[in-house]
Amino acid sequence: MSLNAQLESSYAVLMQQTDKLTGAFIQQKIYKAGFDQRSDKTINLLEKLDLHIKSDITYDVFCELLKDEDIAFYQRLFEERLVVPDFAGFCESIQEIYSQLQLDQKGKLPTYIPELKKVDPDQFAIAACTVDGQQFHIGDYKSRFCMQSMIKPVLYALALEENGIHYVHKHVGREPSGRNFNELTLNDEGLPHNPMINAGAIMSCAMIKKRLSPAGRFKHITNALSDLSNSHKITFNNAVYNSEKETADRNYALGYFMREHKAFPKDADLHRTLNLYFQACSIEVNSEILAIIAASFANAGTNPITQKEVFKPETIKNCLSLMYSCGMYDYSGEWAFSIGLPAKSGVSGGIYVVIPDVMGICIYSPRLDKLGNSARGIEVCKRLVERYNVHNYDSILRCPNKISLTG
Ligand code: GLN
Repeated sequence: MSLNAQLESSYAVLMQQTDKLTGAFIQQKIYKAGFDQRSDKTINLLEKLDLHIKSDITYDVFCELLKDEDIAFYQRLFEERLVVPDFAGFCESIQEIYSQLQLDQKGKLPTYIPELKKVDPDQFAIAACTVDGQQFHIGDYKSRFCMQSMIKPVLYALALEENGIHYVHKHVGREPSGRNFNELTLNDEGLPHNPMINAGAIMSCAMIKKRLSPAGRFKHITNALSDLSNSHKITFNNAVYNSEKETADRNYALGYFMREHKAFPKDADLHRTLNLYFQACSIEVNSEILAIIAASFANAGTNPITQKEVFKPETIKNCLSLMYSCGMYDYSGEWAFSIGLPAKSGVSGGIYVVIPDVMGICIYSPRLDKLGNSARGIEVCKRLVERYNVHNYDSILRCPNKISLTG
């Protein structure tokens, strides 16, 4: 479709929706689709529309306003053809689930990293971002928490991009371990079972930018997070880092155990590797940021807001496969069975879920169940999957009683 045809069709569709096409009408349309003044995707047009709040928008003005904008995107927005067409309905569902669970206090704060038990246990946030950049968040979505195990898919993706699949899997397996995330165990070949448990993530760290300084290696990880989330607000929690390092006997033990089995690449330095792992776990984000990171995963490695390709689709495919089978600790089998989506949780109380080609969702609620997953986070996901046909195999049932997220 030519640019003119796109403009004409967009204008015509808006004119059908109202008797008086004003700036305010178009702004409302954009807000309802899941964008606000803070979204980089729509900020320019929303600002330009401020000057036309009550006035009639003629076709000429419309063309002037959309000059330099992504017309194809706006055409889909105005025609209600973004990936989640009924975004307002989705937001209502999330709001409902949020209020149903607001008083839920099941679970306990973790104690094995002393600093992690100092957070307010009642915090609760849900955030979502679609592959078109539509966003919604509710609750304590600005509250910061450490990535902890949620950094593991990113570490694996970085190791894959740099070294390729064959090299990486000479050093780490891809089977669920069937054990706790920090169990002192390796597979039959003396390698960590997969990159989603502690031993595997320590191994990923050993393969990331070995020739750079410790500072350079850490920066390499935070740069990837900034690109994945379009955020400069990736911070570091030094108290958690120190607390974890002081109490990391098990992770040191895993490191030595792997070294004994000659699992590491030849030139890896054990102490630098462990330090990088502790630092990576102490990187802080909030639910809003993590939902965008998950959306970049859902969007095959390309940030849905900036359109920057951070990881190759092949890397993301491998990463999602392992998140699907191993992302939820020793609950991964049950999770794949009942939720049917790739996800990763962390002991800080976050979970992010990827609905491929549709959206990323992050839930933050610090109380954990016995296996170390956010108890309320799991409950949110169960309710979402009950309502929407997003389980990997829902398509087989053609679930007439479930809502289709994508219309
Ligand atoms: N940093 C934590 C550890 O190494 C990460 C564990 C987790 O989030 N499950 O034990």
